[in-house]
Amino acid sequence: MNEILKKAINTHTLSKDEIINLLESDGSELYKAADSVRKIAVGDGVHLRGLIEFSNICSKTCKYCGIRGANLSISRYRLSVEDILKDVKQGVESGFKTIVLQSGEDAYFSKELMCEIITEIKKFDVALTLSIGERSYDDYKAFREAGADRYLLRIETTDKGLYNNMHPNMSFENRIRCLNDLKSLGYETGTGCLIGLPGQSIKSLAEDILFFKELNADMIGVGPFLPHPNTPLKDEPCGSFDLALKVMAITRLLLPDINIPATTAMETLNPNGRVIALQSGANVFMPNITGESSKNYEIYPNKSGINASNSDIMVKLDEMLNLIGRHVAKDKGFRK
Ligand code: SAH
Repeated sequence: MNEILKKAINTHTLSKDEIINLLESDGSELYKAADSVRKIAVGDGVHLRGLIEFSNICSKTCKYCGIRGANLSISRYRLSVEDILKDVKQGVESGFKTIVLQSGEDAYFSKELMCEIITEIKKFDVALTLSIGERSYDDYKAFREAGADRYLLRIETTDKGLYNNMHPNMSFENRIRCLNDLKSLGYETGTGCLIGLPGQSIKSLAEDILFFKELNADMIGVGPFLPHPNTPLKDEPCGSFDLALKVMAITRLLLPDINIPATTAMETLNPNGRVIALQSGANVFMPNITGESSKNYEIYPNKSGINASNSDIMVKLDEMLNLIGRHVAKDKGFRK
């Protein structure tokens, strides 16, 4: 086996140049190495997270994102607390052990309202992940005290110039501040990046991976950039599936015991994308369990998603996973 891969498997460290070398390699050995590290560190169980996209209203204007505030051509929705809890109940009854609440940056969901929702959800026996963007330390602290277990906030890119270009009126420093706050408050903290943003280099992807390692992130989600027709990046090419897979696999080598989802964006680019990801380092799957309105949660076009609202979803997913020697994990899936 390639010396760099041997080093990664034995020490879980790599230099930037070594990461660049792997990103430029053909990938097949890398995927196998990541799959074996995944098997040893976290086993064959796949953790399912039930995703509820509860609002597509967003005050930010991230240039790549279909639900950016400046997009006037989508219809906006916001679920009521009652409807959110209905989706949670259905998810719990189907067997989900983790609920993920995701939204645009919607100030309607104040600290108080979020705490009320978190308290209600935590009455069910589930782990709760939030993915609602940048908030103050005070808000993050209140959500944590109300019972939220995990938080997802991708850095998107660690290339500061590119970050500032992609995120008008936002600040890279504040994004980092958020991630540090989340870590210090004891959240299992997830971050990640987009692959194939216009102007993004291989070197900057290597730096993203080193950032994940330095933060000691508990969860990493990566996916290819997919151009959305109602955004300033509509004419840019898609990110590469293979490159996204490589970033994910190297992340597994450097952070063996973390949770890594096979992301929906990967499935959108390749019909078998999520299974390939599960065989290249991923151990988490995040089906959408939102009721009707989330068809408008179009962060990118043709966002694929299995319909997880039927009650035999667990059996179906278990059957699918059994075909590749895996199974649905029964526990809440915290980092070991
Ligand atoms: N408001 C929340 C959730 C954002 S949507 C937050 O700020 O964290 C979740 C993720 O979708 C983003 O972090 C981004 O990485 C991804 N995403 C957005 N637009 C995308 C696109 N056009 N292609 C691929 N992924 C995209």
